[in-house]
Amino acid sequence: MENAFASVAELSRRLQSREVSAVELARGYLERIEEKKSLNAFLDVRPEETLRQAEAADRLIASGEAGPLAGIPIAHKDIFVTKEWASTAASRMLEGYMSPFDATVVRGLKSAGMVTLGKLNCDEFAMGSGNENSAFGRVGNPWDANAVPGGSSGGSAAAVAAGLAPIVTGTDTGGSIREPASFCGVTGMKPTYGRPSRLGMIAFASSLDTAGLLAHSAEDCAMVLGSMVGHDPWDSTSVDMPSEDFTRDLGRPVKGLRIGVPRAWMGEGLDAEVLASIEKVLDFYRSEGAEIVDIDLPMAKLGVPVYYVVACAEASSNLSRFDGVRYGHRAAEFDDIIDMMKKSRDEGFGPEPKRRIMIGTYVLSHGYYDAYYLKAQRVRRLIAREFHETFRKVDAIACPVTTGTAYDFGANADPVSAYLSDLYTVPASLAGLPGIAMPCGLHSNGRPIGLQLLGEHFTESRLLQLADAWQRVTDWHLRHPQGC
Ligand code: GLN
Repeated sequence: MENAFASVAELSRRLQSREVSAVELARGYLERIEEKKSLNAFLDVRPEETLRQAEAADRLIASGEAGPLAGIPIAHKDIFVTKEWASTAASRMLEGYMSPFDATVVRGLKSAGMVTLGKLNCDEFAMGSGNENSAFGRVGNPWDANAVPGGSSGGSAAAVAAGLAPIVTGTDTGGSIREPASFCGVTGMKPTYGRPSRLGMIAFASSLDTAGLLAHSAEDCAMVLGSMVGHDPWDSTSVDMPSEDFTRDLGRPVKGLRIGVPRAWMGEGLDAEVLASIEKVLDFYRSEGAEIVDIDLPMAKLGVPVYYVVACAEASSNLSRFDGVRYGHRAAEFDDIIDMMKKSRDEGFGPEPKRRIMIGTYVLSHGYYDAYYLKAQRVRRLIAREFHETFRKVDAIACPVTTGTAYDFGANADPVSAYLSDLYTVPASLAGLPGIAMPCGLHSNGRPIGLQLLGEHFTESRLLQLADAWQRVTDWHLRHPQGC
């Protein structure tokens, strides 16, 4: 398929000029999805539904009423509920579950005329960093069969990297868009918490869960982001603020912008090649007239323990709804209602959700609440304050996404080492900040290297401008894994 790695902008141009139809485009991607089945990136593909949407998009384009996204294919992380495709959160608990409604984010993208290709594999209930926790099998990293694609949006990142979709949704609770984007050499955008609606996103940790996008470039993310954010009266934490044109700052000079670099935080454990690639990005910004400023984020190192207390506490509460009564898996045999709930939960949840339900229940229980949960909330506030103070001095922060490139399958089997690997992504999540991860090199081990840019609340446009400036002069984001 000739268009497999084309940008959203390019696809839009071809669709509007009728060089290609939405149906042709959808067919092309569906064929590639079938060819690359062994990656296990998709959990549910229903070609007849996709083609029905594509036909509608073609009619819209023919009517002359279509916006720029009409006919552009997209796939959704299986954390978003969808009416036409099963919604499972990659859990046996929800195997085959059909939602009666579309998530607000899905609805917004659909009304822009985008065509759904299917649902993407991920870690169970978005809990993980390597996509090794899906109940429906691990996802391959298109760059290297031994490497994890990252998680929890591993199917999302692998799909873009392998040219199975030009753009996809993901969710980022503690790094799940930025980390897989970085491991698969694609661009991942996490907007400010509260900007995209959480309605219809299967809940993991409600004060952190944020919908976002993974694509080939910042420009592509900017084109689509406007259709997935906006106030939703059905989500109590949705920000009452209109969407905006996120492409408006693309191409504007970055001269005079101040970029903070937390050197002390980037010390120990950071791979030397990752650091060298990051330095090249900083050199580029400097050469463009941006000011590179040393900053200190001493609280950020407390991110991991705070995140795993808060996220597990919220998860234990959110996952209590899966009781075998209302929806989801119910055990076939049981003695009484308590036994039914116990067996249903035991059979439905995999090991990682069970672990987190136990940690969460523990930190919320009488006698431990003050010691763990309340203390974590206090430190969370300090982390947020530190970022806000820093953003009085700088326009953005540049730092690594992870200490190295994608790790080998099984290398983080110990949950504590997996949790520790989230050190660079969770602080921004705790503060609700927007962030973008972009490719900035290839390691000598053949795996992509990424960098993240973080900004103050609601500065998505600035982050997209900065990432786009780098992508205008480099081609890391245009490289594909061999054989794709
Ligand atoms: N790796 C983190 C975790 O396992 C982040 C997950 C996420 O952002 N959904 O909780």
